[in-house]
Amino acid sequence: MTACSAAGSYRGRFAPTPSGPLHLGSLLTALASYLDARRNDGRWLLRIDDLDRPRCVPDADTQILRQLEAHALYWDEAPRYQSQHLAEYESALARLAAQGRLYACRCTRAALAASAWPGPDGPVYPGTCRTLQLPFKDQALRVSVADGLLHIDDRIQGQLQRDAATELGDFVVRRRDGIIGYHLACAVDEAAQGITDVVRGADLIGATFAQTVLQQALALPMPRYAHVPVLVDASGHKLSKQNHATPLDTAKAGANLWQCLRWLQQAPPAALRGAAPAELLDWGVAHWRADALRERHRQTVEAGP
Ligand SMILES: [Zn+2]
Repeated sequence: MTACSAAGSYRGRFAPTPSGPLHLGSLLTALASYLDARRNDGRWLLRIDDLDRPRCVPDADTQILRQLEAHALYWDEAPRYQSQHLAEYESALARLAAQGRLYACRCTRAALAASAWPGPDGPVYPGTCRTLQLPFKDQALRVSVADGLLHIDDRIQGQLQRDAATELGDFVVRRRDGIIGYHLACAVDEAAQGITDVVRGADLIGATFAQTVLQQALALPMPRYAHVPVLVDASGHKLSKQNHATPLDTAKAGANLWQCLRWLQQAPPAALRGAAPAELLDWGVAHWRADALRERHRQTVEAGP
């Protein structure tokens, strides 16, 4: 149990993009968030991240739900489809605009590549268009990020910080094609679903910093965060759909869960090898220790690169 989570009040979530079936890397983060929620007597919600219509694959959402069921990862409440909540995101954009926090950016891809500098979480936009007062129509919209230090007290990674201006920069909240930016949608959704705890991959730490900026600007509650190490292949690359990671074989659900439990430092007993998914999950919930990952992270940090 986390000290600050009263039994039953915990609400966690898993938010896949329906751009294809789940792979082992996405199962890992689903499992970590599920175990943390159940261990804390909490609810585990699903959100289908389907705003980027060109990336979405028809019926991939159904396929993902079936894959989760095959791994006995059953969710509470109806999944939230982001595409059904556009008015909420537009309303958040309007509130940011009313605060004078939004501006249009006309930079081309090439201009961005030439002007952005590398940050810890990706390229940092230097604010080229911030003072130009361009009309919003048919342009990307960015949020002005105030100077200063941003902090996250991560349950696994410990204290994290970024310099807002030099390490995060003004980020896109609505794309030129009108699609709502991931950070804005995610910040609005966490509040709308009453999420208290976000457990997701460490590749999203930069996204979390951006989302905390929006949570503050929009006066939204800030969930607790735990970023788990992402699954990498033998050559050290993150498993992802972009890297053509193999879709999960649901016929091997038990073996998949076993592998993910081990990656999460949960050391299931040998007797459970080959057990059914529900049995592995029961063991996982009863023995879940997020701090095992924290210890491992500390060891990694102390050992250095
Ligand atoms: Zn620009």
